[in-house]
Amino acid sequence: MIEKVLNYGVDFHIEDIKKEDNKNVIYIKSNTSSCKCPKCKEISTEKHSTYKRKIQDTPIQNIETCLVVNAYEYKCSNKECEVTTFNESLPFARKNKVMTDNLIQLILSISIFMSSSATSLILSFLGVKVSADTIDRIIHKIEIVDNPDIEEVGIDDVAIRKGQTYATAIYDLNDHHLLALLDGRDANSIREWLEKHPKIRTVARDRASAYAIVISEVLPNCMQVADRFHLFQNLIEYLKEIFYKEIPEKIFIKNNKIEDKNNIKKVPIQVNIDKEKLKKLDYDNSAPKDKDGNLIDFNKDLLNNNSNIYQKHQKKRDEKRDKIKKIRERAKEETCHKKIMDEFNVSRNALKKYIKMTDEEVEKISSVNVTKENRVLDNFTNMIYKMLLNQVPLEYIIEYTIQKGYSASVGTLKGYILSLIKNNHLSYNCSSLIFDKHTYPEDTVVITRLELLKNILTQEHVNVNIKT
Ligand SMILES: [Zn+2]
Repeated sequence: MIEKVLNYGVDFHIEDIKKEDNKNVIYIKSNTSSCKCPKCKEISTEKHSTYKRKIQDTPIQNIETCLVVNAYEYKCSNKECEVTTFNESLPFARKNKVMTDNLIQLILSISIFMSSSATSLILSFLGVKVSADTIDRIIHKIEIVDNPDIEEVGIDDVAIRKGQTYATAIYDLNDHHLLALLDGRDANSIREWLEKHPKIRTVARDRASAYAIVISEVLPNCMQVADRFHLFQNLIEYLKEIFYKEIPEKIFIKNNKIEDKNNIKKVPIQVNIDKEKLKKLDYDNSAPKDKDGNLIDFNKDLLNNNSNIYQKHQKKRDEKRDKIKKIRERAKEETCHKKIMDEFNVSRNALKKYIKMTDEEVEKISSVNVTKENRVLDNFTNMIYKMLLNQVPLEYIIEYTIQKGYSASVGTLKGYILSLIKNNHLSYNCSSLIFDKHTYPEDTVVITRLELLKNILTQEHVNVNIKT
């Protein structure tokens, strides 16, 4: 359980956590089965003995925390090697260090911003006991130890002050110690250094090709590998690229085969209406009443007055009304019609018309035009509203309204029903699907690119829409 939070590597298990002398002490046991000899690099599986290391770690809940690591001493199995036994390396602390890498990183990141004594004080509040002298030593010990015989290196660009100066760090791929820190992060930054290290056979580098070209120029036999992080980043990027370039927005599967989208035709939605059920419906256009017999007042607007298009039209109508009002005001003091026409960019006829209008007519300009359709719908509004209240299925409402004499377009009727639902906030159960006239045929599975990408990246179960 605890290892989900505190992780010291797969081969290092937390055996116990204790509070000792007001400190957190974490007991860690090594479960490694092999280790590389630091000298000859041969892998040894021969354990010689165990040893204990005490290492200070980053604090937990601002309480000083240290690790007691029970690790192995291995025997070098290479008879030619001058090393007989060696301590195994730990993934979280360097050789001979009394602090973990994480703790050193914490100290260094604070010391960038303040003096060593201030850093020491701040850290004491956080639960790290470290003297200013030790901090000074850590800073000066960021040692760069070059090795002209190095064979395996990692190359990475680093920001020295975030976003300002860039450098190229070259490190030993085995123990990760810094071999060189070079100015800049382009090809020329590393050319000279590479030339002085002819034994390099492996370079782990990031995916940027800036280094790649110069590496193959200077060291043509060297193998270039991408480290896991960069590899993963690359993979995701390629995946995305492939998805957006190669995979269409919708994939159609028919008879277990991917079908070209040009072969898929939408079909009209088939609505099956039970004639017996339809016959039983009995609604008239009298005003709806609640259960106490009081009339229900409701919004009969043809358009959904919350919709963007409605709001846009309403704004235009209001603007027109205001403009006419201004023109009429102006015409009271200005007798030259030509001047007003130019000022408001209106024709002579329009101007004449505006001046003739009554105040009432002007006000009416901002209200919705009563269209022929709206008047037709008036004969069914109450009836439809009552059916919606009673959750009569949409296809039955449409069919019933037609039976009752509605003869305008079904599309208009659907739109009106939707407006009634929305403008009156009715909790009516209707899928938007019904408002589409067409859908994909039932034997065709439609998967969207987005669903597919989501599925791959999250492994979450995604419902495949048969109809979209
Ligand atoms: Zn050895």
